[in-house]
Amino acid sequence: MPTSDPLQVLESLREQLDTWSHQYYVLDQPSVPDSEYDRCMAELLALEAAHPELIRADSPSQRVGGRPLDQFSQVVHDVPMLSLDNAFSAEDMVNFNKRILDRLGGEEGDLEFSCEPKLDGIAVSLLYREGQLERGATRGDGTTGEDITHNVRTIRSIPLRLRGTDIPEVLEVRGEVYMPRTGFEDLNQWARDHGEKVFVNPRNAAAGSLRQLDARITASRPLEMCCYGVGLVRGYLLPARHTEILQRLHDWGLRVNEEVDLAVGVKACATYYDAMAQRRDELPYDIDGIVYKINNLALQERLGFVARAPRWAIARKFPAQEELTRLLDVEFQVGRTGAITPVARLAPVFVGGVTISNASLHNSDEVDRLGAMIGDTVIVRRAGDVIPQVVSVVRDRRPRNAAAIVFPTACPVCGSTIERAEGEAVWRCMGGLVCAAQQKAAIRHYASRRALDINGLGEKRVDQLVDEGLVENVASLYALEKDRLLGLERMGEKSADKLLHALQQSKHTSLARFLFALGIREVGEATAANLANHFQTWEALATASEEQLLAVADVGPVVADHLRQFFDSKSSLQVVGDLFAAGVSWPDVQRPAQQALPLSGETWVVTGKLRAMQRSAAQAQLQALGAKVAGSVSAKTSRVVAGPGAGSKLSKAKALGVEVIDEAAFLNLLARYGVEV
Ligand code: NAD
Repeated sequence: MPTSDPLQVLESLREQLDTWSHQYYVLDQPSVPDSEYDRCMAELLALEAAHPELIRADSPSQRVGGRPLDQFSQVVHDVPMLSLDNAFSAEDMVNFNKRILDRLGGEEGDLEFSCEPKLDGIAVSLLYREGQLERGATRGDGTTGEDITHNVRTIRSIPLRLRGTDIPEVLEVRGEVYMPRTGFEDLNQWARDHGEKVFVNPRNAAAGSLRQLDARITASRPLEMCCYGVGLVRGYLLPARHTEILQRLHDWGLRVNEEVDLAVGVKACATYYDAMAQRRDELPYDIDGIVYKINNLALQERLGFVARAPRWAIARKFPAQEELTRLLDVEFQVGRTGAITPVARLAPVFVGGVTISNASLHNSDEVDRLGAMIGDTVIVRRAGDVIPQVVSVVRDRRPRNAAAIVFPTACPVCGSTIERAEGEAVWRCMGGLVCAAQQKAAIRHYASRRALDINGLGEKRVDQLVDEGLVENVASLYALEKDRLLGLERMGEKSADKLLHALQQSKHTSLARFLFALGIREVGEATAANLANHFQTWEALATASEEQLLAVADVGPVVADHLRQFFDSKSSLQVVGDLFAAGVSWPDVQRPAQQALPLSGETWVVTGKLRAMQRSAAQAQLQALGAKVAGSVSAKTSRVVAGPGAGSKLSKAKALGVEVIDEAAFLNLLARYGVEV
């Protein structure tokens, strides 16, 4: 029963928050997104502000974190590890600044703040004695944490011994242990493939990986640490400003986040916030806000603390990357290769800066893992460039009338049988080009910009052409006649002419584009280009043995098998024959005299995100300079171009000692060979 008795409301809010905190901090298994926790906490704070007499010392508003786990030995922090107050808007930040100025008596003028990305991980304390790492501990409830020394010793960005000179007798460093985004995705992919626990988000994965009794598990996880402050210090006089302390930490060999900057006054703080919000998706790790700290330590001391947080710092949060919404339905889409993908239809929700109303559920294994039912409340996550995902179900909000998700037993589009290959998670429609969904997807791909680039063949137009029976495969595109086109809805004389013209033009292409346009499974742009360069003619390629195919860079047994299946399929060859008969052709592939090109003989890999161009364009440039481009790193790789967000390929390159260059160096190299970007 809803109640208006403030005491009762308070009690129920506290109980709810306590339960969530236990799941989050102790079990590393949150059941709701942070945004939901924050809303509930804001309600509690407002109610406590209106009824200060009802505030209790054990209220979640007065406490830090959660109880340390009994399995670990406990560590009592000499200097408590506090949390941070939150600001959710520019106005909250202005009020924070004003509160400080008022408290300081107003004689300070514009205040200097250290602005720091708020890494979303887990707070850790490292104790160095005479420069040697002696102990690592979690924050726990702020007073007592867990001893995780054996685990922190496995994190490579944590030095076991401090470097340089002038090292304090005792130095307790604080920072955040986090998992970079690509490491998190790789870890979850591995977990999915091996039926292991999948983590909800990188924060959770970091916390779960660090609080392991077996340090070998921690060692296998991609964890990093950035330091943001100190606790206990003995035998050393600290500098007067916080950012100078960070510099010392850096000099002693500890990692400090490279984005830390100074701002004078709240306006400059807002500018920093906006700039970081813009770049948030590009960073290789999750950040959930910006932490502002008064830089002057004497002022910090004058301001002091409240129950759970310092008065001299605040965390201004970014919009949530995880939100709650309802699963309205699940539809099954059939893709170009017949793969049947369950897609969640969601009540529209604003998350990670955009409104989301659909999310792929990937395959039936993933649906089983989620245990979702139609009508469920689910957590949706959208972070960085990663496509939105349904990460979990809030079980205790399941409505009575929730309905099971029923997988189709035949293709939902054409009714053909569906099959699941051994070892694959995906069901596929066996209808091939009989299936309208596959026909449409194949045509869309053939016409796409990086394939034959046919203007005027967008998704709606392709649907219309197939639905009206004018086109059934890519070859029949070239048999389109103006009269028939003019009979279509939304098709005037001009559009019809334009489309026919674009189709004519598309007939002049290159072998590489044509190969890519055919949509053979696993044959992307780079592989298509490698195949074209290697075989030079369609005939040579189509009759190549598996062994000959395997000799091409980037072609492994799986790709070779897909290629052979394509060339052995009568219906595929029929379509290709029709395309040739319609006049699709290309100039002979001029294999450049190998030595004439600067990068011939080299094999390159491009990974991560590039700013100046798409990865595919970078690969094309490399090929134009004579390099082979591969999709994975091996001992044969000559060089790797790694942009932000590079993950396992970068680690592998480092492990194998393959030279890695960043985008700037790559652009320099292109410029050296006269390529302008
Ligand atoms: P917090 O995460 O909001 O902020 C404090 C922490 O920020 C510090 O302990 C430190 O770990 C981290 N931090 C990162 N960069 C920092 C920097 N440069 N300087 C200082 N600290 C930095 O506070 P909290 O008390 O750890 O957790 C509260 C948050 O946890 C809430 O906002 C809530 O969203 C979430 N939470 C969620 C649930 C849930 O069920 N989803 C439950 C409990 C808490």
